Amino acid sequence: MKTAVYDLHCHSTASDGSLSPSQLVGRAREKGVTTLALTDHDTTAGLAEASLAAVVQDLKLIAGIELSANYHSHCLHIVGLNINPANEILQAGIALQHQLRAERAKQIAAKLVKKRLPDPYPSVIAAAGNGEITRLHFADFLVAQGIVSDQQQAFDRYLSKGKPGYVPTQWAGMAETVNWISAAGGVAILAHPLRYNLSHKWLNRVLDDFKQAGGMAVEVVTGRASAEDIRISAGFAIRHQLLASVGSDFHSPENQWVELGRLANLPSGLKPVWELFL
Ligand code: AMP
Ligand code: MN
Ligand code: MN
Ligand code: MN
Repeated sequence: MKTAVYDLHCHSTASDGSLSPSQLVGRAREKGVTTLALTDHDTTAGLAEASLAAVVQDLKLIAGIELSANYHSHCLHIVGLNINPANEILQAGIALQHQLRAERAKQIAAKLVKKRLPDPYPSVIAAAGNGEITRLHFADFLVAQGIVSDQQQAFDRYLSKGKPGYVPTQWAGMAETVNWISAAGGVAILAHPLRYNLSHKWLNRVLDDFKQAGGMAVEVVTGRASAEDIRISAGFAIRHQLLASVGSDFHSPENQWVELGRLANLPSGLKPVWELFL
């Protein structure tokens, strides 16, 4: 029997990934992944193609999404797994988020133009194609123009909160995004808990409210997590009696630090979220 390898968080060209859903599934298979969840930002548009490819490649595909959510003044990412993409409540929510993304993209472009940068809008629209536009598309534009040296610098200088190209966005509230996922029969997971720069006090508050809203799991192992990060995240899972998830957050083969299926093991004592949909 093949060893089971789970990767429950990654992106395709349906949002800010660089591989098409079928290329992504092919690569996951090559890297030994046996169960993959495609979790594009605020869209399920890549799932049909990914499911077909998964049948051909003999890999189990979990239908997923990564929803942007507001919590007080913070933006959190809520992953939904094992969702029914056809669910009307979920799709109505996705339509709202799509409007916000489209509108925000124009505003980000306008802010950068005000800073006397070349207009990113046409390139970003072209690069996103039919997919959802994210700040990563803007970062890639700034890199391609030689304005910054890499994506990180694009965020540090232009795109992060407090920087000239930042546009605050009123995404749906956290509880609301959890409700959409639950309505679609899915499991809600707080993605990469340590990437929000929240104090532990705040993170405990987030997890209390998340659980109250019906959230069931937290990502404990992510692509770039250190052993210490994993230990801390595992502590939050145990404290709040949440299931544990694992996902690379893979976007592109160009990022040598993150690979599909290249993930540390879950620490013992945690209940893996995938037991819910085996
Ligand atoms: P958005 O959801 O449109 O705000 O874009 C967020 C996306 O930008 C994330 O999913 C990452 O793919 C990317 N991102 C955010 N921060 C960074 C960073 N510091 N370096 C590289 N990519 C980032
Ligand atoms: Mn992304
Ligand atoms: Mn995320
Ligand atoms: Mn992600």
